[in-house]
Amino acid sequence: MKRIELFCFLMLTLLSANTKAESPVKRYNLDSYRIPINEKGAFVGRLISQTPNKIYEVKLLQDTANIFYINKKGVIRLKKNVAIKESSPVFRYAIKVEADGSTVEFELVKDEFIKNKVVAHRGAWKNTKVAQNSIRSLENAFKLGCAGSEFDVWLSSDNVAVISHDSKIGGLSIENSTYQELSKVVLPAGDKVPTLKEYLAEGKTQNKTALILEIKSSGISNERTLELTDSIISIVHQMKAQGWVEYISFSYDALKHGYNLDPSAKTAYLSGDKSVNEVKSDNITGIDYSFYSYRSDPELVHSAHKLGLTTNVWTVNDKDDFKNYLESGVDYITTDEPELLLQMIKNRGK
Ligand code: MG
Repeated sequence: MKRIELFCFLMLTLLSANTKAESPVKRYNLDSYRIPINEKGAFVGRLISQTPNKIYEVKLLQDTANIFYINKKGVIRLKKNVAIKESSPVFRYAIKVEADGSTVEFELVKDEFIKNKVVAHRGAWKNTKVAQNSIRSLENAFKLGCAGSEFDVWLSSDNVAVISHDSKIGGLSIENSTYQELSKVVLPAGDKVPTLKEYLAEGKTQNKTALILEIKSSGISNERTLELTDSIISIVHQMKAQGWVEYISFSYDALKHGYNLDPSAKTAYLSGDKSVNEVKSDNITGIDYSFYSYRSDPELVHSAHKLGLTTNVWTVNDKDDFKNYLESGVDYITTDEPELLLQMIKNRGK
């Protein structure tokens, strides 16, 4: 190989190394990251190994607030006489755990997550005149006090996870464009296309609205959907956002792959073509089916709950439907009209 060819080869190798999709290798996770409030010695979560039969030794190496305790089985609790008060302004706590000689860092979150069932579909954008899936649509969902805010994630051609509903944005195909090209897009109300990292950073500025992350199905290949899943879970772990995020997807494979990468991830399937037994046996933790599915099977909420699955219905925008689903016992209602649904819930409480 001539010197110039060797130089080009090395440059290309370096460039491709920089743009590789992020791949998560995580041996330890917690089964829960949320700290109950006003409860002395509360259970927070259990350390779980991805090699389940292994007996591991655990140690709490760092606890910035000095309030946690970990036992030999990896169970993390608040210390006996410690409770996180409702009035405490701190809501994120960093810990570092040693397990079988390797260290892993987590962030635990004070559990003040709202339980009003309302999930803002693509953020709260419709009545606030901001772009769907923009940072401002997420902030609006926080301001309204929604239980969750939903958003959609794609992978750019150079493996940057970005937020958009459609596969095209600003005239560009996301999967065939670089992040640099996508970053120049200005949406009609002036919003930019956020990266997943930016979105999660914003999401972690609060502890009341859960982040409902949709893994989009790639138009290129199923492998590309799995690469997107790798990238998403890797970023969520890097940013220590596990306590905030729940995953949804129309791709059954993405959710099954998600379980392999993080067995404690909360996942819900969107397509509606699998029975609750099938979903349960594939370790997916919930169904997020369209209202057609619930309408055609009035027992669906009940049969899902019997198996311990969570239930979410999409996309409900009508007053009569809101009333029906509020009475159905469904856990989440995904809507483009979060203001209207919240008002109805408020009125019902009177
Ligand atoms: Mg979506």
